[in-house]
Amino acid sequence: MSIFIQQVQLNQKRSDILIEGSRIAAIGEKLTAAADQIIDGRELIAVPAFYNTHTHAAMSLLRGYADNLELMEWLQKHIWPAEAKMGAEHIYWGTKLACLEMIKSGTVFFNDMYFFPQRIADAVREMGMRAAIGMTTLEASPNAELIRQNNEAIWANRAKLPKTITLTLAPHAIYTVCGETLAKLADFASRENLKISIHLSETQGEVEQCKADHNGMTPVEYLDSLGFLSEKVVAAHAVHLTDSDMQLMAARKAAIAFNPCSNMKLLSGLMPFRKMSDAGVNVTIGTDGNASNNSLSMFDEMKAAAITAELSAQTTTACTAEEIFTAATRNGANAFGLDAGEIAPGKLADLMLLDAHTPCLVPSHNLLSNLVYSADSSCVNTVICDGRILMQNRQVPGENEIIDKATEYAAML
Ligand SMILES: [Zn+2]
Repeated sequence: MSIFIQQVQLNQKRSDILIEGSRIAAIGEKLTAAADQIIDGRELIAVPAFYNTHTHAAMSLLRGYADNLELMEWLQKHIWPAEAKMGAEHIYWGTKLACLEMIKSGTVFFNDMYFFPQRIADAVREMGMRAAIGMTTLEASPNAELIRQNNEAIWANRAKLPKTITLTLAPHAIYTVCGETLAKLADFASRENLKISIHLSETQGEVEQCKADHNGMTPVEYLDSLGFLSEKVVAAHAVHLTDSDMQLMAARKAAIAFNPCSNMKLLSGLMPFRKMSDAGVNVTIGTDGNASNNSLSMFDEMKAAAITAELSAQTTTACTAEEIFTAATRNGANAFGLDAGEIAPGKLADLMLLDAHTPCLVPSHNLLSNLVYSADSSCVNTVICDGRILMQNRQVPGENEIIDKATEYAAML
């Protein structure tokens, strides 16, 4: 399978891009090649696609379900009771809806933490995206045993997953999983070479409770005392870190997922982007779930990231558009060991083609500035993941059925 994109705008020049199999084979001003599919790129701009590093995709069925609440009340009184009604088919159609929304806004990968991982994997495979699918641990849940059985089932079946899907360990948080289990999971991740996702220091309340329960240690210090922190870890939120917490995260090579919309909507706080980046932590960007955002658009998330970076540092020079775009693309790919996030020969063929004639991209004094501060998903014309076209001319195969089924399943909650 090969795709030949002709005369597209790439890094402010006209270029041809040849994709063979799952990788970018060649880039040049005038290539000659035969290909299975040819795309006329004269009105299009090629940029890397997005890597969304923290989601609960199927929560798309709960979009708009419980707004105007802080994290703990939102979770305990509204979200957990609604989730108790969700079966495997809710998860499947909720995940498909999320995939559709992500593809339409230029995202090719997401790191998911939810339930019924096999049905999440089915949805991702059918939509053609990449995903890191979490085997969630939530000891506080009444469904802990069912969750464990579903994790065991997909783990036993892992050889049958496509190469675009990897499994991760996903202990929910330090307040829902005990220290002994966290240490065991870190050990398992190390032996099996798996990534681990966890919600970390999301609220000031979580930090205070951790200090009270664990000899004055912050959540980061507590996880480190368990041997949990390593390059395998991608921690979501990380809003309330001390300077020494940030240094510890950088020393252990743990990455973080910056979730500015969710952090602001649930009043969790402002993640200090400048300080975190300067400490040497790999900062990636994630949207969190649709019940606390309520969008999966990485365009929206980049703009919020840039603006909250300024607000938390109290300076207009807290970040550049390039840093934020890199966090949403290459940093996320790197955090999951994907040889992607840049349009260059040899890299995985994950990219989007933007309509140059969309109002939000005009004029083009600075493309990166437009991408971060003014663009929305209306400019995304074509999305390519692993050398396959997932959307062309804004059409995704099967989208009407997904909308209908997601509406139907959401109505049951
Ligand atoms: Zn989350």
